[in-house]
Amino acid sequence: MIERQSSCDDALEPSLLPVEEARRRLFSSLQVVDELQNVYINKALGRVLAADVISPLDVPAQANSAMDGYAISRSSIPNSGEASLAVIGTAWAGQPFSGHVGEGEAVRIFTGGIMPEGTDTVVIQEHVRLAPGDSSGTESIDVDCHVVPGKNVRQAGEDVTRGQAVLQGGRKLQAADIGILASLGIHRVEVIRPLEVAFFTTGDELQSLDEHAIGTDLEPGKLFDSNRYTLAALLAGLQVNVIDMGIVRDDETETRRVLQAAAASADVVITSGGVSAGEADFVTRVFHELGEVSFWKLAMRPGRPLAYGHIGKAAFFGLPGNPVAVMVTFLEFVQPALKYLSGMRDIEPLMLPARCLSRLRKPPGRVEYQRGVMSLDNNGELTVESTGKQGAGRLSSMSKANCLIVIASEADGVLPGDRVHVQPFHGLLPG
Ligand code: AMP
Ligand code: MG
Repeated sequence: MIERQSSCDDALEPSLLPVEEARRRLFSSLQVVDELQNVYINKALGRVLAADVISPLDVPAQANSAMDGYAISRSSIPNSGEASLAVIGTAWAGQPFSGHVGEGEAVRIFTGGIMPEGTDTVVIQEHVRLAPGDSSGTESIDVDCHVVPGKNVRQAGEDVTRGQAVLQGGRKLQAADIGILASLGIHRVEVIRPLEVAFFTTGDELQSLDEHAIGTDLEPGKLFDSNRYTLAALLAGLQVNVIDMGIVRDDETETRRVLQAAAASADVVITSGGVSAGEADFVTRVFHELGEVSFWKLAMRPGRPLAYGHIGKAAFFGLPGNPVAVMVTFLEFVQPALKYLSGMRDIEPLMLPARCLSRLRKPPGRVEYQRGVMSLDNNGELTVESTGKQGAGRLSSMSKANCLIVIASEADGVLPGDRVHVQPFHGLLPG
């Protein structure tokens, strides 16, 4: 009888590290980049703020009208009946009315016009009756008692108050944030410098795709190197500087040379393939020789062999070779780590509860990340269906999916109608 050694076929393997413990080791070993850059706000989209931004101003700076109408003092209007008010001038946006508005008076005002002194309320033009001008040419308006005090006025500081921390350090700047910075007159901000990320794929079987070659024939025994392009695409959404180191052959000396060069030039090194325990798995071997290994075999599927640790100062992720495993381990481990290193505080993927419509097979002992298609049913409930066969080599399952179905380690499969958790790709997949 052949004595079986542990392998990725085993459901329960005591040497596999639980995902939670792996994440704890990962985050406790990472240090946020501490070099800052001062950038013009037009170049700051997607960058991570180094510190809180304190507002130097009230926004709006002065009370102004939210509508076209007439600025009045509410005390000019009786509590029943109507009042006739003399229109003594106009406040345009950008051209304030400079006089004082007394009892019985109004100023024609346009949206954005500064509220004249003596006024507290805007009556919209649709709610007044215009009375013909008197002999001196002064127009007047009739207003009734239904006017609500303070109506249609944007108060000074109602959006942002001076001294308020308006954006928090660790925030990845979005379009609205850039607008807020501009509205405060802040034209440059301190951000964390982008990470340098080096990556390469490994395998004698891999064939690269030349940018200009059309209809490239696949040589016998080879397969196109999809992982390098997937990784480049995943990294492209993350505002990091990438160093594509190509394909490294299954050769120990070559693997050592390229890994050392990558670790010397980048904050993070990512590889695909060669992390199992086979004869041709040189990444494992060289990493154990050169680096500090934090973990290597995880209780998850796909992604059982996921090597993590440091080579010199660089964080190293040796991802599996299978294309789906590359994506799943990237999304679950590499992406949160890159966000964390970049100084971002909001790094956890969104997890939503959903009702599963499919039967999902899975043995207990590992967390599984299956590919799903989620949608709202007729009752507005979030439901999810499997994309079908879940082999780690089927990249099309990732492309068909719009979420990952995360099934807890202890679960022994999922039955139709069971509750599961999903991670929507929207917001998870970069770009
Ligand atoms: P490995 O872990 O190196 O044995 O890789 C496992 C499997 O993943 C290989 O047999 C290939 O089918 C596949 N694979 C590895 N690297 C790549 C790649 N760069 N692109 C596409 N498939 C790959
Ligand atoms: Mg290989």
